[in-house]
Amino acid sequence: MMNLILLGPPGAGKGTQAVRISQKYSIPHISTGDIFRKNIKEGTELGKKAQEYMNKGELVPDNLVIEIAAARLMEDDCQQGFLLDGFPRTVMQAEELDKFLDQRNHPIYKVIDIDVDKEELMTRLIGRRVCRSCGATYHVINMPPEKEGLCDICGGELYQRSDDSASTVANRLEVYNTSTKPLIEYYERSGRIIHIDGGKDQEDVFTDIINAIGDN
Ligand code: ADP
Ligand code: ADP
Ligand code: ZN
Repeated sequence: MMNLILLGPPGAGKGTQAVRISQKYSIPHISTGDIFRKNIKEGTELGKKAQEYMNKGELVPDNLVIEIAAARLMEDDCQQGFLLDGFPRTVMQAEELDKFLDQRNHPIYKVIDIDVDKEELMTRLIGRRVCRSCGATYHVINMPPEKEGLCDICGGELYQRSDDSASTVANRLEVYNTSTKPLIEYYERSGRIIHIDGGKDQEDVFTDIINAIGDN
C-alpha cells in the first residue's frame, strides 16, 4: 500500500514530480488544485466558491477541501495507494485525513517534503505555463516546450494560471508559511517525512525521491 503525500511550497515542483512518481508506482495523482480548476472550467457551484479564494491566493476553506478529497479517495483507483499533491495544506486537513485513513486501515506511508528557496519559487511560478488540454506543466526558461506556446504532448495551447501573477504569488508564499509549513512538524512527529532538496534539476529531484522512498 503506497499512500504518499507531496508537501512543499507553491512552485516547489510537486506537480512535476507527481507525474513521474505516479507512473513509477502506478498510483493515481490527486491534486486538489486540479480538481478545483476543473470545477471552475465547468462552472460548477464548487468551482464558483473555490475561485474567489484561489484568485486572491488564499486557501479554499477546509470543509470544502476535505469533502472533495474524501470523495476522491473513496474511488476504486485509490484502494491500492495514491499520491496526494497539494493536500493536506492545513493541520486541520491533515488531522481529518489521518482520521479518514485510520478508519480504513490505510495510513500514510511517506510524506515527501520538497524544499526550494523563495527567489527560485518566484521565478518558477511566474514562468510556469500549463497546457489547456492535458494539464502538462512547462516553464518558459527551465522547461520550454519545443514549439513556443504549444504542448509537446498533445499540441494544446499553453496558458499562464491567473494566480501565477507576481502579486498573487507573493501572497501564496506567505499563506504557505503561515498555514501549511506547520505540517512539516506535524508529520515529523510520526517519523513519516522525507526531506528533498527541490532546487536541483528535475531528474535529480526524482532520483532523490525514489531513493528516499525505497524500493517497494
Ligand atoms: P508545484 O506543483 O509545486 O506548484 P510545479 O511542478 O508546477 O510546482 O513547478 C513549478 C514550475 O517550476 C513549473 O513551471 C515547472 O516546469 C518548474 N519546475 C519544476 N521542477 C523544476 C526543477 N527541478 N527545476 C527548475 N524548474 C522546475
Ligand atoms: P500550487 O501548488 O502551485 O500552489 P495548487 O494547484 O496546488 O497550486 O493550488 C492552487 C490553489 O488552489 C491554492 O492557492 C488554493 O487556493 C487552492 N487549493 C488547492 N489545494 C488546496 C487545499 N488543500 N486547501 C486549500 N486550498 C487549496
Ligand atoms: Zn497538452
